[in-house]
Amino acid sequence: MLDDDLKKSVVEEMISVIGRDRVFHEKTDLIPFAKDTFALRFSEQDKYLPDIVVIPNSTADVSSIVRIAARHHIPLIPKGGGTSRTGMLVPIHGGIVIDTIRMNRLLSLDRRDMLVTVQAGINLQELELLLSKQGFTIGHEQGSQKIATVGGAISTAAYSRKNQKYGNIWERISSLQVVLGDSTVLRTGPIVPYTSSTVGITAIFVGAEGTLGVITEVTLRVEVAPEVTSPVLAAFPDYESAEDAADQIVSRGVSFIGGGIWEDERGLPDLGDPDAKAGMLLAFEGTEPETKAAERISTEIIGGSGGKLADAKSAAEAWSAFLMHWCGMRAEIGHEDVIVAYVPRTREKEYFGKLLGDILPRHGLRTIPGANRSLDFGRHMIFGTRFSIPSTDEGWESYIAAVDEASSLISSLGGTVAACHGLGLLHRDHIASELGEEYIALYRRIKKVMDPKGIMNPGKKFPDGD
Ligand SMILES: Cc1cc2nc3c(=O)[nH]c(=O)nc-3n(C[C@H](O)[C@H](O)[C@H](O)COP(=O)(O)OP(=O)(O)OC[C@H]3O[C@@H](n4cnc5c(N)ncnc54)[C@H](O)[C@@H]3O)c2cc1C
Repeated sequence: MLDDDLKKSVVEEMISVIGRDRVFHEKTDLIPFAKDTFALRFSEQDKYLPDIVVIPNSTADVSSIVRIAARHHIPLIPKGGGTSRTGMLVPIHGGIVIDTIRMNRLLSLDRRDMLVTVQAGINLQELELLLSKQGFTIGHEQGSQKIATVGGAISTAAYSRKNQKYGNIWERISSLQVVLGDSTVLRTGPIVPYTSSTVGITAIFVGAEGTLGVITEVTLRVEVAPEVTSPVLAAFPDYESAEDAADQIVSRGVSFIGGGIWEDERGLPDLGDPDAKAGMLLAFEGTEPETKAAERISTEIIGGSGGKLADAKSAAEAWSAFLMHWCGMRAEIGHEDVIVAYVPRTREKEYFGKLLGDILPRHGLRTIPGANRSLDFGRHMIFGTRFSIPSTDEGWESYIAAVDEASSLISSLGGTVAACHGLGLLHRDHIASELGEEYIALYRRIKKVMDPKGIMNPGKKFPDGD
């Protein structure tokens, strides 16, 4: 926390560069910036507050803010939609939150080069709506679409439910504009669809969780919007049959946009089959003939694996719920979490056996209906298990102990505990076993170059803080 005199003078400096109406420092204004959707220890829900919140309009505003903060060695936390599930936004050292909510403009859409340039604080759903009016899409759809921003999605290497066809948003970047921790304004590449002149600097900011700089502008490759979207929902007698069908659909090379399977009869949408123990949902997008052909092959595979198709209305409802929910469903602070791991497919049985048969029950954690075992299948196969977090300090300790054990298990199986949702506070100590000390040492050196005073989101991304 800043002492009163320093805070007063920094507030005045901030007001002089971005205006009085965009600088907040009273406690009541700061409370909404105290946490994200990560469950803090029950008795520490109100422990952390930033000192100041600023709302810039432009890259120039951000650069001025960073220059002042760097001069005084004050921590800075860039904020997008605030949907982080792992505590990336928690101001554990106080400091200044840079809220990008007003940096929400679509700056240009080049129809012939098929590139869109936006300010980083634009909301993902808003961007999709604007693009669809012009006949384009980026095809990135994450559970927090209605709230999360382009800058936040890139900074967390976000995972899209449609990645099988379109990839994830960060795979579409042509160029970024970033204000580094020393206030330098950097463009990471020319605004063209492809270049071989750069050395991959853009990628350094993917998943950086605000620890290297503030992304202010983003240029993305767009695709032509699809003619039709066609979802398929099926009921299976068990998880293994659903998984067999999923594997066949993938290995046959069928073109689908994304999909998932899940286990637990209590949480299934209405599949029209009272005996179902597992469900599958997948969707196709594109021109009508190609979509119909892919759907036909998939439904034959589903039938051959013992699956029964639900009607089109149930499929459409389930697909829209799938896009919005899954890993963030009921993301009320302090109530639930989801372990989203990627483990090699050959180790999947071992993973679920230990997680569901030992770790979670031993720590007294209950899984939430609909997701004992679940798998998003596509180019990225991700396993999810949702569970409730008891609202007591003891319950929280058990939750952290269970996640620690699950992380060690996942590393030992050659996987990652951060298949999406990043590291934040929850997983920062798990990264050493996953990636090794050499990786962490190199990242520290990169950070030192881009953020020489160590002010960018300190305490995140590195084991034991910075
Ligand atoms: C209901 C729900 C569903 C979810 N579904 C998904 C899902 O399907 N896939 C998935 O991957 N995740 C999902 N998440 C997790 C979360 O939404 C993502 O991590 C999301 O990409 C974060 O975006 P945001 O704009 O909310 O960023 P924030 O939460 O505001 O910030 C996240 C991190 O990015 C940094 N950051 C934000 N903006 C910038 C910027 N302009 N420059 C530099 N750093 C910045 C912050 O400092 C912070 O470290 C879900 C979360 C919820 C609550």
